Amino acid sequence: MNSKGRKTATANLDDYDKAYSTFRWADAEREMGLDPQVGWNIAVEAVDRQAEGPHRGKVAFRFFDGLSTVTLTYHQLKLLTNRFANALRALGVAPGERIALFLPPLPEFYVAFLGVIKLGAIVVPLSPAFMNDALTEMLRDSEAAAVVTLRELLGRIERGKLPAMRRLIVVGSESSPAGTWVGYDPVMAEAADDFTAAPAAREAPIMLMYTSGSTAKPKGVIHVQDGITHYYQSGKWVLDFREQDVYWCTSEPSWVPGISYGIWAPLLHGVTSIIYSGEFAAARWYEILTRFKVTVWYTTPTALRRLMNFGPENPQARYGIKDLRHILTVGEPLNPAVIRWSEKAFGLRVYDTWWMTETGGQMIANFRTLPLKPGSMGRPLPGIQASIVDEEGRELPTLAVGQLAIRAGWPAMMGGIWKDEEKYRDYFRMPPWYLTGDLAYKDADGYFWFQGRVDDVIKKAGERIGPIEIENKLNEHPAVLEAGVIGRPDPLWGEVIKAFVVLRPEYPWSPELQAEIRGFVESRLGSRFVPRDIEVCAKLPRTTSGKLMRRVLKAMELGLPVSDVSGGED
Ligand code: ATP
Ligand code: MG
Repeated sequence: MNSKGRKTATANLDDYDKAYSTFRWADAEREMGLDPQVGWNIAVEAVDRQAEGPHRGKVAFRFFDGLSTVTLTYHQLKLLTNRFANALRALGVAPGERIALFLPPLPEFYVAFLGVIKLGAIVVPLSPAFMNDALTEMLRDSEAAAVVTLRELLGRIERGKLPAMRRLIVVGSESSPAGTWVGYDPVMAEAADDFTAAPAAREAPIMLMYTSGSTAKPKGVIHVQDGITHYYQSGKWVLDFREQDVYWCTSEPSWVPGISYGIWAPLLHGVTSIIYSGEFAAARWYEILTRFKVTVWYTTPTALRRLMNFGPENPQARYGIKDLRHILTVGEPLNPAVIRWSEKAFGLRVYDTWWMTETGGQMIANFRTLPLKPGSMGRPLPGIQASIVDEEGRELPTLAVGQLAIRAGWPAMMGGIWKDEEKYRDYFRMPPWYLTGDLAYKDADGYFWFQGRVDDVIKKAGERIGPIEIENKLNEHPAVLEAGVIGRPDPLWGEVIKAFVVLRPEYPWSPELQAEIRGFVESRLGSRFVPRDIEVCAKLPRTTSGKLMRRVLKAMELGLPVSDVSGGED
């Protein structure tokens, strides 16, 4: 865009089929005024362009910790991120170095995130839920030169094990007298608020983001500048941003949705985002929706299930939720029961979106302008070619279950796996495809249906059964709060189905209840889907972003040590 700054998109995806056949990513580059010859700096495009245009005084972020609110306008964000870039430079940080943010979603997180990228360094967001070992592993792997953190988190940073680390920057603190760390405020106070970012190429790295750790040890995924068009287009087509929107992405910025759709997409569209840094509580979440007049809400199926299970029956009326117009989820299968509940609770359906840390941006989604099929992930974004392939990479026909594959080469695609070239190449071992590791099928209307992860498939007597459908069904039983399903090795069958369930407190466990739940699954899905055993537990193992860790259930079942729980809650 020109020096007048960027406006909010207004054109939605009115005609999906037309857009799907005609759209090219270069169109988005042109619309955004990006010149690939010169290059750009994505943080400047997201913040400064807005600040220099009609959104100068508009609120970019409204932070709420449960008690008080802090706002940052686009103009303020521009100056503060300039300052942070200067401060880092003064501390001796060079472009290309990794700077970790081990911080909750405070204003300083966002300022530092964008400031690191303005400097041309690589940002590494890390969840404050990580304890010592998980944290040390990621700081070592990324060879972070500096960490921005809080004083109360300092104890988890084991400096002796981190030879690459030169600087600790502590938010809300003065610099330590012994010189162990510098305070964020004092270094910011000394820095100038003008900064000229060097334009960089499309493939220049901006972020190292670790995957959630649902199936294995988290991998360091490199994100590059090119993602900008993808964040912008998906903000327009999927999130359906409008000028007046107040947007709430509930994902923490240590998980990829909290970056691509918690920072980039809303800033590139000049909308106002709400950032909540407090704990989950149904009443509090509903209060946020009303108090800040949230219009677009991007959350997770787990969060909605928690609201469904613990909130009042009619939140819309009870809390006076009036402004909400679009709800979306990511991260896990969105079971149809949640969509039915949402229709009653908010008068709105929920739109599922499918993507991964490695894809950088949304790949398959339900669009407002297309009929919604509950249980489906939706259709590919224009510019994205998705298919279902077999073990040799051959495309499978409609309705056949196979591995979900994406034709390689979309803008937000990862630039690499940090220090693991082999792992990176493995995703692309069947050209022209990027292999997702997820199983799905495509229906006659071109909608994709998630079936599970390749690693989670249960192989029972030569048959392959995905756990998701069974979990969804178990979730529909009135006694069941949540369920996790795995395959348990069995000498006769290869594997048999084992379910772990958390019961509602009013349902005591009994052999009768077990029989009833098994009958419930049998009558609705068929006998091959009935869990051989059902085990009751108090809680299911989840990642910090709320994903079920079936590999932990499996290790527990087999009595094996859980090899690596980095990424896990506790
Ligand atoms: P790891 O790669 O470390 O095992 P992870 O795959 O959970 O962890 P993420 O990148 O956060 O890490 O998650 C991507 C995965 O989440 C997808 O591969 C898919 O299995 C699941 N997922 C994301 N969105 C959806 C969705 N809408 N429906 C079903 N599954 C989804
Ligand atoms: Mg993964």
